[in-house]
Amino acid sequence: MTLSGPIAAQALEPIRYTVRFPAPETHYLEVEAVYPTGGRPHVDLFMAVWTPGSYLVREYARHVENVTVRGPGGRALTIQKSAKNRWRADTGGAPTVTVTYRVYGREMTVRNNWVESSFAMLNGAPTFISLVGGSSRPHEVRLELPSGWKTSSTAMLPVAGQPHTYRAEDFDTLVDSPIVLGNSLIREFEVAGKRHFLVLEGETAFFDVDEAVKGVRKIVEAGGQVMGGRYDYPHYFVLYVITDAGGGLEHKNSFLGLAGRYTTRNRRAYLGWLGLTAHEYFHNWNIKRLRPVELGPFDYENEVYTKALWIAEGFTDYYAGLLVKRPGLSTRDEYFEELTGQIEAVQSVPGRLVTSADMSSYDAWIKQYRPDENTPNTTINYYSKGAVIAFLLDARIRRATNGAKSLDDAMRLAYERYSGARGFTAEQFYQTMSDAAGTDLRSWFAATAESSKELDYAEALDWFGLRFRPVDVGNPRAWMGATTRNDAGRLVVSGLRRETPAYAAGLNVDDEILAIDDVRVRADALAGRLEQYRPSDKVTLLISRRDRVTRLDVTLGTDPGRRWRIEPAPNATADQKQRVTAWIGS
Ligand SMILES: [Zn+2]
Repeated sequence: MTLSGPIAAQALEPIRYTVRFPAPETHYLEVEAVYPTGGRPHVDLFMAVWTPGSYLVREYARHVENVTVRGPGGRALTIQKSAKNRWRADTGGAPTVTVTYRVYGREMTVRNNWVESSFAMLNGAPTFISLVGGSSRPHEVRLELPSGWKTSSTAMLPVAGQPHTYRAEDFDTLVDSPIVLGNSLIREFEVAGKRHFLVLEGETAFFDVDEAVKGVRKIVEAGGQVMGGRYDYPHYFVLYVITDAGGGLEHKNSFLGLAGRYTTRNRRAYLGWLGLTAHEYFHNWNIKRLRPVELGPFDYENEVYTKALWIAEGFTDYYAGLLVKRPGLSTRDEYFEELTGQIEAVQSVPGRLVTSADMSSYDAWIKQYRPDENTPNTTINYYSKGAVIAFLLDARIRRATNGAKSLDDAMRLAYERYSGARGFTAEQFYQTMSDAAGTDLRSWFAATAESSKELDYAEALDWFGLRFRPVDVGNPRAWMGATTRNDAGRLVVSGLRRETPAYAAGLNVDDEILAIDDVRVRADALAGRLEQYRPSDKVTLLISRRDRVTRLDVTLGTDPGRRWRIEPAPNATADQKQRVTAWIGS
C-alpha cells in the first residue's frame, strides 16, 4: 500500500539497523543503528531485559560491547550508560545519529542469540537497541551475510528489491520476529491461501525434511479446524535450528524451535518434535492473538505478571496432543501415553496441593523459571495442570451440551470475542467458557484453576469411557524416595519430595550416601542395592553432610513407579466410544 496525504505526513521515520558478522566464529555480531532524533539534544536508548513468552529477566544488555555514537559525516558524539539496559546519546542537534555496538551471542536457547562460523540465530530482544518512546516506529533490518551464507529467514516482511532486508512495523514486531541465517533448507506449502515455510538450519544432514514438512502441514490444517479456519497471519515461518538442543518459543507469525539432529530417526523423538511444533504453532492463536489482558502491550524493561498462563500454556499443550493425534500423526495409544504423562506430571507432584494453577502462573518469574530442589514440593507446573484442566473442561462442555459443543467451540468463541488488541480477563474467559457450555462454570474454575485441591477426574472418565488402569510393576519394590546424581563417583542426593521415606528420615539435598547398613554403596549402584530389601524394611544410611559423617535410620516404603495409565475402558459403551472418536479422531 502506498501512503499519501495526511497519513504519509504522520508516518514515522524508521529506525534502521544493519547487522554484520565480520568474524562469526568468535560469536560476535555487529550492529549499526540509525535513530531519528526529532532535533532533541540527546536521545535515550534501551535494550529489552526479557523476551515475551519466556518469563525471566535475562539482562540482555550484558552481552553488549563497544557502544559508540556518531553524527552526520562521522562526527564522534558522546554516549553514556544511564541504566543497566539504557544509554543516553548526545545528538549535536543532528536529525539522525548512528550508534554502533557489538553483541556476543553464544546461547543455544530460543530466547537468545547464537552466532558461529556457518550460521546464526538472532532474536530481537537481545540484538536490537531501540529508542525510548520510539516503539511505534517502523524498525528496518538489513543483514549483511558473511561470504558463503546464502539464506535469511524471518516472518518480518521483506523490503522489495533489497536482499536480506526486512521491515517490522513497530518494536513489538521486531522482538516478535526471530531471524535464522546461513544455508537453510527451506520448504514452502500453502494452506488456506497462506504461505507457510519450514526452515531448517544447522545440522540437517540426518533430518528427513520431506517427512517433517508433511507433519507440519497436517498440524497447520488440524489447528485451522479447531479455530474455524482463522489463519490470521500474512504468512507463517516454522524456524528450526538443528543441533543437539531443544526448546521452542512462540511468535505471532512464526516460531523458533531447537531440535536434535536425529529427531526424524527415532519415533519418540519425532513425536516430541511434532508435539513441540504443534504447541508453538497453536500459540499463533492462543497467546499471540487471543491473549490474557496483561500480556500486551509489553513493558520490555520490567516483569509482567499474569495469572492466566495455565490457559495460554496449558490449553496450548492440551491442543498440541490433539493437533498431532487428530490428523493421524500419532496413534491412539501414543495419544493416551501423552495424556497419561500430563496427568502424572500433576498427580505425582506434592506442590499440586500447595499452589494453584493461577498462582503458579503469577509466580512464573520467581518459581517456574527459577526451579530449585524444593520446586516439586512448593508449586505446580502451569503447563501440566493447565493441560489437565483443559482436558477436564473439554469433557465437561461435551457432557453439558450432550456432545453438541466442545472446547474447540469454546476456544473459537473466545477468539471471536477477545482476539486482536483486546485481551481477556480471567472472568471474561470463564464467562466465555460458560456461554459455550450453556452452564455457569465459575465455581468449577474456582475449584480447578484457583484452588490447590485435588482435581476430580470421574466426570471426564465417565463421559469418554476411560479408566486409570494399574500398570503391573511386579513385586512391590523397596523405595527411599530420594533422587540422586553421580557426582564424579560420589552418590549425592539431588532432590527430595515430601511424603517420601528419605524426607521423613531427615535426609538432605547434597548429602552424600556412603553406605547402606554399613556396606558401601557406589554412585551407580543404589537401585541394585535397594533390590536387596523389601518395603517396610529398616535400614541405616551412612552419609556425609558437609564432610561430617553421620548415620540416619530410614524405614523403606513402596516404589510408586507408574502405577496406572489412562486408556479407553474395555467395557466402554458404543456411545462412549463414539465420543472418544469425536474428541481425538478415529
Ligand atoms: Zn508455550
